[in-house]
Amino acid sequence: MTMPVGKIDPEKVALDRPIFDPAAFRLNDAQAEIIATARELGQSVIADRAAAYDRDAKFPTENYQDLHRTGLLGIAIPRKHGGLGADYQTYAIAAAEIGRYCGATALTWNMHVCSTLWSGPLADDLDMDASMRAEHERRRAVHYKRIVDDGAIYSQPFSEGGAAAAGGVAFGTEAKPAKGGWIVNGKKIFASLSGHADYYGVLCTEVAEGEKASRRNTLYLALPAKADGVSVVGDWDPLGMRGTVSRTLLFKDVFVPEDAALMPRGVYFQAAMRWPHMFLTLSPTYVGLAQAAYDFTVRYLRGEMPGTPPVKRRMYPTKQIAVAQMQIKLEQIKSTWFQAVTEARANPTKEQVLRAYAAQYSVMEGANEIATLAIRTCGGQAMLKSLALERIYRDSRCGSLMLPWTAELCLDRIGREALYETGESDD
Ligand SMILES: Cc1cc2nc3c(=O)[nH]c(=O)nc-3n(C[C@H](O)[C@H](O)[C@H](O)COP(=O)(O)OP(=O)(O)OC[C@H]3O[C@@H](n4cnc5c(N)ncnc54)[C@H](O)[C@@H]3O)c2cc1C
Repeated sequence: MTMPVGKIDPEKVALDRPIFDPAAFRLNDAQAEIIATARELGQSVIADRAAAYDRDAKFPTENYQDLHRTGLLGIAIPRKHGGLGADYQTYAIAAAEIGRYCGATALTWNMHVCSTLWSGPLADDLDMDASMRAEHERRRAVHYKRIVDDGAIYSQPFSEGGAAAAGGVAFGTEAKPAKGGWIVNGKKIFASLSGHADYYGVLCTEVAEGEKASRRNTLYLALPAKADGVSVVGDWDPLGMRGTVSRTLLFKDVFVPEDAALMPRGVYFQAAMRWPHMFLTLSPTYVGLAQAAYDFTVRYLRGEMPGTPPVKRRMYPTKQIAVAQMQIKLEQIKSTWFQAVTEARANPTKEQVLRAYAAQYSVMEGANEIATLAIRTCGGQAMLKSLALERIYRDSRCGSLMLPWTAELCLDRIGREALYETGESDD
């Protein structure tokens, strides 16, 4: 269950309104409670720490202690295993609330939560025979216990710098079957939580001696960060999302036991084919950033931004028009995205898949459009590093780059899949 969140005295500081009002968006009480926990933790604790993590490109370790303390580290773990039992939609909205206060915390939390969401509610929708299902149930309980009891943090290294992360070819990181498990060799780039996760949830290809690599044989394995043969290399000094610490991971003859499997053989490939919304989980962070840029602008123009003189700028028609444009964009993002996360399920229709790409594109490009307008509208004093908008602007630029659904690839897919039915060609 959730623990008390934090330091805010509601008598003195007004709690921010939810991004998705539970009554208006028809969320039930259990959902609203989990999402409110995320929002209150974000506003009362996480927001104040965000600038330092960004400045120093430092992992938000203290926020993870608070995510554990409040139960949010196990948000998608079923209640019978000690988690909060959130479904996909509840998690996505809670993650947007965290992203509103610290993009890097929300994005890394997403990598962690996916290890439980993909192995949990998502895997429950996929085909497995009874013995595979029983084995999966036993194995995932091992991972859940580490998270709930010990506060273990998982990451999700996926990208390799080649075509695999876009879904084109098999992952180059290979797992060779060995007695009682696998031997893993390979390299992952942009691995958020490098040096800070306890387990790296590595996507890799199982390749037996003499076999050719195939995407069908993708495995999702939790490699202990302390295992022999795991190393973190390279530096990390990026434009935005600096607290994610997304360095390079190397795996050299790393042995992992069978219980390291977060999904049984063949199930990741099945998920990628049948549960495409699994790749939409990078977007909630950026819904939060879009809301944050909007909130900042309203507060600033009203002369209510802490740390700035109480100068009002809201009376100028140009400012009012800009805020109207931002509000319209924000509502467009929210409504497309809310519909997409609400209808996420196995075997979506073609229309639902196209809408998921459109939601991802709208969020990832739209968050930065709102932040850009916020900078222009609020003006020079608002883009100083002492205020959050400058960080929101840089963080929001990173969303379009996230494979496999980058903004470019969403456009590619929407255009192609709208014009061609499966199997059609012009030959
Ligand atoms: C802050 C941050 C955190 C990240 N965290 C993680 C993480 O935790 N785990 C992880 O696995 N990855 C992570 N990534 C990596 C991210 O998902 C991408 O893999 C990475 O940004 C790709 O960079 P690249 O230059 O190698 O892309 P490239 O592969 O060189 O692609 C460049 C662009 O070309 C386009 N493109 C790529 N392939 C195709 C294609 N087949 N057809 C048409 N266009 C294509 C895409 O739009 C892409 O953006 C993170 C990235 C950032 C910025």
